[in-house]
Amino acid sequence: MSSDGFATHSRDVNERSIRSRVRHAYIETHLMKLRATGEFDRLLETPRVHFIYLHHVFDDEAQNFRRTLSEVARTHQFVTYSKAVELVYSGKVDRPTVCLSFDDGLKTTLGASRVMDELGISGCFFVCPAIVGETDRAMVKRFAETRLHYPPMDVLSWPDIEDMLARGHEIGSHTYSHPNMGDVSVEQAIDELQLSAEELRKRLGGVKHFAWPTGKWEMFSARAGKAAFDLGYQSCASAIRGCHMPRPRSVGAREVCLRRDHIMGSWPLRQNMYFLARSVLNAAGNDYEWPEAWKSIIQKERHPSEADSGVIASKTGIFAAPGC
Ligand SMILES: [Zn+2]
Repeated sequence: MSSDGFATHSRDVNERSIRSRVRHAYIETHLMKLRATGEFDRLLETPRVHFIYLHHVFDDEAQNFRRTLSEVARTHQFVTYSKAVELVYSGKVDRPTVCLSFDDGLKTTLGASRVMDELGISGCFFVCPAIVGETDRAMVKRFAETRLHYPPMDVLSWPDIEDMLARGHEIGSHTYSHPNMGDVSVEQAIDELQLSAEELRKRLGGVKHFAWPTGKWEMFSARAGKAAFDLGYQSCASAIRGCHMPRPRSVGAREVCLRRDHIMGSWPLRQNMYFLARSVLNAAGNDYEWPEAWKSIIQKERHPSEADSGVIASKTGIFAAPGC
């Protein structure tokens, strides 16, 4: 930890509660059972699209992060985020396929992107324009305390992000300022989605993908999901654990809420692999779907009169530029 309270090592953010120790013990027991029956390898070899996401990769996590990626690469193909989304929509997946993403735009992900470069892996970095490039440490601290709910960490700058784009990574929107999207008004949710898209378009030329803060159902809403697609985002990601199995028919973007599995650079390699295997074990054919009560709202295309009402300020153009 730095003298002003910024996290600089994995130990500064890792949970060390009794609950987390119990969880780790459970994971180890289940993992041993899956390994003993040979099921573990079979699960990892199952064709599917698997999104993995992280928040940070501190220097002390980099080696294990590299090992995890190398281990995953033994049995999986890594693809870009856009390619993974395309595969999920088409349903045509014939091999174990993985893609990486990162939430919140933390500075340590710059180092992670370089580790990925060494392994030929492209990722998508979901950022909040309100905090990108912020150098006022009191501001970053307040943002971390009120929006991220974990200790403050240095954040990416715009030149960092441009550098990542130039090296073949993608940038996605994580809202403008990381609110609880389940708690804000529809108008505020639309503002968060639109301001973020406009800033990313202005700075970087465009944005295709969106992941909502925390990724939990209770921190999102059907109206926010509809707004994301109305505004032109081509995908919407949760942090609900799971993976996407092959399907006989293709589906439209509005039908899909992407699932992502969280891993950490500081977790033991076998536990990171365990989360992938467990998601395959629990997979069902409809794992891409929105909650039943949300479907009709999200899947309803925007009516032309909505654009006239001023609720959605911009009809076209904000996502027009190619490249990210
Ligand atoms: Zn976040």
